[in-house]
Amino acid sequence: MKYPEEMYLDAGLYDGDMDCDVEHRKEKIVKCRKEHKCSVCQSTINKGDRALYESGFMDGEPVSSYTCLKCIENWLEESGQVEVEE
Ligand SMILES: [Zn+2]
Repeated sequence: MKYPEEMYLDAGLYDGDMDCDVEHRKEKIVKCRKEHKCSVCQSTINKGDRALYESGFMDGEPVSSYTCLKCIENWLEESGQVEVEE
């Protein structure tokens, strides 16, 4: 993990995504107990790796997704939320 945990939680990766109408959304950093697929890059998040876990409700159905930390780091860098050393 390159940055403080709060930065991953506040990254705002999905803010402004109008197609994603999730209610009661919660985000936390978890250590995966089994393999998951990153919802952004579709790569495998290995068992034991940390990832951003999001859960909530869409149309009354519980939904959840995992995002690998690399994708969030890329987003933090692209969106200018962190200084990138050239
Ligand atoms: Zn990813």
